[in-house]
Amino acid sequence: MTSSRNEGDLDQASLDLFIAGDESRSASRTDETEPRSPKEVAPDSSDPLRDISRLEELAAVAVECRRCHLRETCNAVVFGEGNPEANLVFVGEAPGADEDRLGRPFVGRAGKLLDKIITASGLARQDVYITNIVKCRPPGNRTPDEGERNFCIPYLHAQMRIIQPEVIVSLGAAATQGLIDPRARITRMRGTWQQWRGIDVMPTFHPAALLRDPKKKIPVWEDMKTILGHLGLSDGEEPG
Ligand code: SF4
Repeated sequence: MTSSRNEGDLDQASLDLFIAGDESRSASRTDETEPRSPKEVAPDSSDPLRDISRLEELAAVAVECRRCHLRETCNAVVFGEGNPEANLVFVGEAPGADEDRLGRPFVGRAGKLLDKIITASGLARQDVYITNIVKCRPPGNRTPDEGERNFCIPYLHAQMRIIQPEVIVSLGAAATQGLIDPRARITRMRGTWQQWRGIDVMPTFHPAALLRDPKKKIPVWEDMKTILGHLGLSDGEEPG
């Protein structure tokens, strides 16, 4: 994978951009990516969605889903959106009120901050794929519980099997617990490479946490630099 920008120019300028919120620098790598060598996500014989091979088909199943009670109170199933061949996938917790109203992931205040993170990374929203662990909004924006995550996670597993990204960014505790470890603590696990079925996973803070505590922008940016380095888009650390 290549990028037209100079390596190393991510640091101060991009951090300033991310923190200050200047969205004028937008760079898409859609036409710049080299053929990737996808990692095979191991097929799961228990996956009820294992025969679905296209995101559109999977989304059509998801919008009809009634597997858990969250569908009784939400407005829409927020399946996810972005590049179906993305190398980089962001996974959040669950839709909020704005997402539920519009049927799109990360479109509220936290979503706008995620957009800034993506833009400051030299990417565009259409370069990546964005989704959540749970596709229906929990009442009152509460955190989805483990049972709700377990009902819904086959959709995420199928999405990752189809997209085959190089890196998944798990945003916050619920996403990290759903993907990696139900006991995961985001403050301990963020910034450390994890694995899910052969895909490298980087846990970091959820953008909503950055809205509450802007100091968390610094470690999130450090995590993004590590991810971009791994993707060949800047200097960074390789997963150990
Ligand atoms: S949260 Fe997931 S499992 Fe529950 S109804 Fe919605 S799509 Fe189905």
